[in-house]
Formats: sequence, C-alpha cells, structure tokens
Amino acid sequence: MRFGLHVRVAGGYDDAVAYAQRLGCTALQFFSGNPKTYRVGPIDGPALASFAAKRQAAGVDPAVIHTSYLINLASEDRKMVANSLRLLVNDLAVADAGSVAFVNTHLGSYGKRDRRAGFVSVVAALESALEGIAPGVFLVLENSAGAGQLCGGTLDELGAFIKAVDHPQLAVCLDTAHSWAAGYDIDTRDGVERFLERADTHIGLGRVVMFHFNDTQVPLGGHKDRHWHIGDGLIGFEGFRALAAHGALAGKTAILETPGEEADDERNMQTIRSIFTGAAN
Ligand SMILES: [Zn+2]
Ligand SMILES: [Zn+2]
Repeated sequence: MRFGLHVRVAGGYDDAVAYAQRLGCTALQFFSGNPKTYRVGPIDGPALASFAAKRQAAGVDPAVIHTSYLINLASEDRKMVANSLRLLVNDLAVADAGSVAFVNTHLGSYGKRDRRAGFVSVVAALESALEGIAPGVFLVLENSAGAGQLCGGTLDELGAFIKAVDHPQLAVCLDTAHSWAAGYDIDTRDGVERFLERADTHIGLGRVVMFHFNDTQVPLGGHKDRHWHIGDGLIGFEGFRALAAHGALAGKTAILETPGEEADDERNMQTIRSIFTGAAN
C-alpha cells in the first residue's frame, strides 16, 4: 500500500511536499481551500502544475483533495445542494490542473427528508458533478460514521450509489474510524476479512480506490466521528495489520487523518509503515 497524511498547504505547496517527504509519505491529502466556507477561489494552474511536478519528483503520489466539510448533496435545500455542487466541481477542476487522482467527499445528511427521496437526489447530484470530470480524476465517496440521517454510513448504501450512477470515475474511500463507528468490527483479522468481503459484494473492491486509516476510541457502532493515533485505539495493531497485509489492498492508497502536530504525524507514519513492513515479512 501507499501511505500518506493529510497535510496543510496554507504555507505553500513546496512546504507541503517537503513535509510529506520528510515524514516518509508516498501519498498525501489536502484541502484546496478553506474547508469551512462556500467561497471558491481562482484556480492557479501554474502553481498546481508545479505542485504536481514536485510531488512526482519526490515520489509523493497519488494525491487526494478532501472537499469542504460544508458539502451536503443529500439536503432537501436546493440552494445548499447547488452550493455543494459548485465546490465539488471546482475541486474536480483543481484536481485536473494539479494531476490529483482523487477528490474525496462526504455526502452529507438527509436531514428530515425521506431517505429514498434523498437517495434519488444524491444520485442526480453525483451525475451532474461527473458530467465535466477530466480523465484521470476520480470522484471518491467517503463512508460516514452513520449517525442519524447521515448519508453513506453503510457499504450497502455506498454500493447502491455506485450501481445507480454507473460511472467509471465514481469510486469509494473507506475511513476505518467511520467504519468502526458505523458498526463494522475491523479490530481482528476475521473482522477485516468479513468487512472486505462485504465491501467487495456491495461496492466491488476495484472501486474502493483509497482508505483513510484512523484509529478511534469511539465504541463499536457509536456513530461518532473521532479519530485517534494508529494502534492506540480500539481498532488497534491487529486491525491495521490485517488491512495493510491484505493482498486485495496491495497498491491502494491509505491516508492518515490522525490528530496532533508534527511529532504525532511522525509517530503515526512510523507506526503504520512498521505495521506494513512487519506484515509484509
Ligand atoms: Zn472526510
Ligand atoms: Zn476520513
């Protein structure tokens, strides 16, 4: 597998690549703008092209854009969906300009609406976002922790989106902390086996192009989105070893979204890489 971190690009793309390289990343994830506003800035083509060249020279590739937390494609509010689509389409264009393979997004919440009606409108929104997608870019749906009316909390539902939209550039990211919070017991080898079998049945493992590797202290099925240091939570070493060693995931990308500062990032990257190396031996 290829491992990376979510990195800040506010200090410039060069610093972000240097940071990722220093910590031994072979992939990275970033926000294209402020993830808490609906504002969309101009796309700086030359800066993004140079970012791509630096990443590739440093072997930090593929890259992932994590879309804004404000995105809600499941909402009943049409204006909210239109604003979300604008952000999403902008990130797909940024990805194209920066040779970024994956645009990872949350789907949002159905709110008070009927889930079946919501499902149909999410499908329409995804179809619309995919209309102008450039070759080589994938729109990646991240599973949620499944609280309340949150969209995308089960492998079944994500698979239903993949089937309904039926587009070769629509893919899935499985976040381990969200999966655990949604009730998937991935803390043992058997649990991971069952989880990946279900993912293959409902989604197809070929469509699961990336993972977020985060440990968590939330109880199994607790539906809370809290990330913790790798190996230090309830998924633990056994769960991550089973995932990292799984032959079906060879070559796929795993991004860490663990908390803390550089020292924590360094420790988490070391931990996942040693788990992986140990698992591979
Ligand atoms: Zn996310
Ligand atoms: Zn995540």
